[in-house]
Amino acid sequence: MAPERDYDVIIAGGGMAGLIAAASIGFNSKGKARVLVIDRNKEDEPGKKTHNGWTCGDATSKRSLDYLADNIGVRYGPPELEHPVSGVYVYSPDRKTKVLFEGEGYLFNRKLVPTRQVADARKFGTEFIFGGTVEKLLSEDGFISGVSGRRSDGTQFRFTATLVIDATGSSSVLRKFLPIQSKIEKEIDPDDVVGTGRYIFEFDPSEPDPAFFSPDYCIIHLDQFIAPGGYSWTFPKGRNKVNIGLGVSKSALDRRNRMYGLNDNLQTLIDKYVAENTALRSPRQPEGGADSGNTKGNWQVPVRRHNDCMVANGFAVVGDSAWMPRPIDAGGISPSIYGATILGRVAAKAIEAGDASEGGLWAYNVEYMRTHGYAMASFEVLRRYLQTVTNEQINYGMKHFLSEEDVNAITDRKHPEFNQARFMNPAMWVRILSQLSLARGLRYTVKKSAALVEINLRYPESPAGFEGWRKELGGELQETVERFKPLDVAN
Ligand SMILES: Cc1cc2nc3c(=O)[nH]c(=O)nc-3n(C[C@H](O)[C@H](O)[C@H](O)COP(=O)(O)OP(=O)(O)OC[C@H]3O[C@@H](n4cnc5c(N)ncnc54)[C@H](O)[C@@H]3O)c2cc1C
Repeated sequence: MAPERDYDVIIAGGGMAGLIAAASIGFNSKGKARVLVIDRNKEDEPGKKTHNGWTCGDATSKRSLDYLADNIGVRYGPPELEHPVSGVYVYSPDRKTKVLFEGEGYLFNRKLVPTRQVADARKFGTEFIFGGTVEKLLSEDGFISGVSGRRSDGTQFRFTATLVIDATGSSSVLRKFLPIQSKIEKEIDPDDVVGTGRYIFEFDPSEPDPAFFSPDYCIIHLDQFIAPGGYSWTFPKGRNKVNIGLGVSKSALDRRNRMYGLNDNLQTLIDKYVAENTALRSPRQPEGGADSGNTKGNWQVPVRRHNDCMVANGFAVVGDSAWMPRPIDAGGISPSIYGATILGRVAAKAIEAGDASEGGLWAYNVEYMRTHGYAMASFEVLRRYLQTVTNEQINYGMKHFLSEEDVNAITDRKHPEFNQARFMNPAMWVRILSQLSLARGLRYTVKKSAALVEINLRYPESPAGFEGWRKELGGELQETVERFKPLDVAN
């Protein structure tokens, strides 16, 4: 007989992923599962990522919100949904080419969402400990059996559970020090993490300039000089309100600084990007209200494929702790929504069946990979490649090699085919020959993408086939790591 535990499930970290997982378990178990969420924040500040606030670009797709509503009956609205958008414009470094990725979306108020999510989870009987930092995973007979940690008043806590979910975000120490044998990868390569930061500003209207601000569209600027190895963004939160920031790869920034004899860091780059935005007159951080304590912040985002295995005996990872954000744009909200919803469904079944072993939780790996995660490895490769190209190549590629089909593919979360970078007509030959390495690089990512998606769609149905599958995936990926060694790309 299984030992009596304090809870069926303990969720460490009550952010975007943890709170959705709690609601999903509640919904799928019809409130029968005994769930405890432990979050280090005070009760009136749930989901806060760091002392700098709920740092995020705040943008997510309507599609993922619809998925949440369809699957667990939770539909967000104002005030946590702050502003609607109709799509994203991506600008080339010379600003001469802009590409529209259509699709409805929203800008969240990230500070207000967790309050709503806590209320949603409580409806299913979820219990909460606020001001509690989970420090360690407990283990017994090769299973995770609970957590221990410290409350803000210094007292210690220790609770047991059949399943522990690590939803502590990108700086997770629980996954890193997992004390049992498992298939979960524990460490992330520093080159697979981007440093990101942003301001939330209100501003006085000035001359409209759609290249710098639109109340209806998110804007992304590609520029290896201002955001080496990443991109910068200007997302509308109203007609005179914006979320503006950027993300960089640390090693790309170091190379760019060396190349130009500069000493920029993430914050100086953000400030330069803001200063060059002529559409925002007198930008200022809003005081008080729903933005107080959340107007300036930096944090890190993983940009590799999600963890090849996300479960172990009595344990699962989700959200940034599972490296779920999409490698090419660091968007982690939708993956958290999909991942946490699926995990909640699988966890509820596992608890009911009395089997929270690696095998009992395996369906989470399979369903996430088959429905959402299968393209992430190919996006990891595309990201690696894009980090090696120069501004000049981006200008050229966006103008000549990106087709409407490619744009539609990216919008549909698929890898683009870059068919224009094939020898289609004499005019295109000239273009391709003048940018041969770019055309070859793009075609290579397409070929690799097809192979990686095919491998991912064959994700093993049970733990038994995992090692062989991982070897195959690792072999394909290793070649791309060798091929796309980062160069000095900042021109
Ligand atoms: C600057 C920036 C811009 C971004 N822009 C976007 C965007 O526009 N769109 C998008 O989709 N994604 C964006 N992302 C990514 C997105 O914010 C994350 O993917 C998402 O928040 C992940 O949710 P999570 O629940 O996994 O982690 P988090 O939101 O980080 O939540 C983790 C929670 O766990 C708590 N916690 C941590 N450690 C412990 C512990 N030991 N014990 C107890 N509690 C703990 C934290 O305090 C927090 O409440 C951005 C990220 C950054 C940094």
